[in-house]
Amino acid sequence: MTRVFSGIKPTGHLTLGNYLGAMRRWADVDQHRAESLFCVVDLHALTVDHDPARVRRLSRQAATLLLATGLDPELCTLFVQSHVDEHSRLSYVLECVATDGEMRRMIQYKEKTARERERGLSVRLSLLTYPALMAADILAYGTDEVPVGEDQSQHVELTRDLAVRFNQRYGHTFVVPRATRPEVAARVMNLQEPTSKMGKTDDSGPGIVYLLDEPDVVRKKVMRAVTDSGSDVVYDRDARPGVANLLEILAACEGADPEALSGAYTTYGALKKDTAEAVVELLRPVQERHRELCADPGYVDGVLRTGAERARALARPRVDAAYRAIGL
Ligand code: ADP
Repeated sequence: MTRVFSGIKPTGHLTLGNYLGAMRRWADVDQHRAESLFCVVDLHALTVDHDPARVRRLSRQAATLLLATGLDPELCTLFVQSHVDEHSRLSYVLECVATDGEMRRMIQYKEKTARERERGLSVRLSLLTYPALMAADILAYGTDEVPVGEDQSQHVELTRDLAVRFNQRYGHTFVVPRATRPEVAARVMNLQEPTSKMGKTDDSGPGIVYLLDEPDVVRKKVMRAVTDSGSDVVYDRDARPGVANLLEILAACEGADPEALSGAYTTYGALKKDTAEAVVELLRPVQERHRELCADPGYVDGVLRTGAERARALARPRVDAAYRAIGL
């Protein structure tokens, strides 16, 4: 059976980008057709300036929201990365296979380094080695497919390179995984700056729709989205990024095609209104379920405990094999 692994960083409140780019497929598709593991990757949240209590709170919130989106612990394994030591054990081994050059080439490393420096902060070494840990997350489970948004493609490519290199040098140990992406909304853009992605760490409020935003907040953010000059509704990601983003969001909500949808609108106002309502309806059941789950913290604890046990049992033999193969 195909094995799927993917993760989410508890570095901020989860966004519509996280949901449309990744999480929605985990619940709606992947867990039903593959042996799936989903992970709150909390170690990754320590790669940039962080507040310990906030990371703990956001990890919990991310796990609860993942359940709220429909992940079913009977169908998939949901766990927290730091509960399973195999991730860090394997990460070190992969750091011994990767080169510093390939780590420095990562676009996210360059962007996040610039952001930390702008804030007057020093750059943590773990930000550089982050892709080795991400590769360990994936390779420890013999993963075939990694359902992620477009921004993670480069890291999955590097994971493939490391798997191939390890296998060639030390004997076949890892499955070489591939990234899978949604057809629409693989890269949801910031509503105020439609040339940058809607990222949860930016905390730049008005351009980001959070999964737990109240309906009126969602409406306000979408209605105030920056649109392009001109007034006709055309789907063109390069020339009309603002309108294209709204069309993609609406298309993803309705299971439609953004280009085909563009023909149905003659004004930006009507497009925004329908997009806002579609997002409100998309989030409504997730928010309701989230409220119910928050009232039952013992259930979430139990899911995470069982998930970590299952994940550990799956990862350990392969990580042990990697240790033996590399000479330990
Ligand atoms: P973030 O970039 O918000 O910190 P993570 O690194 O935790 O998100 O990524 C979780 C998943 O959400 C990944 O699969 C990532 O590709 C996806 N994702 C994040 N932001 C977006 C976006 N704006 N559009 C589409 N997918 C996204």
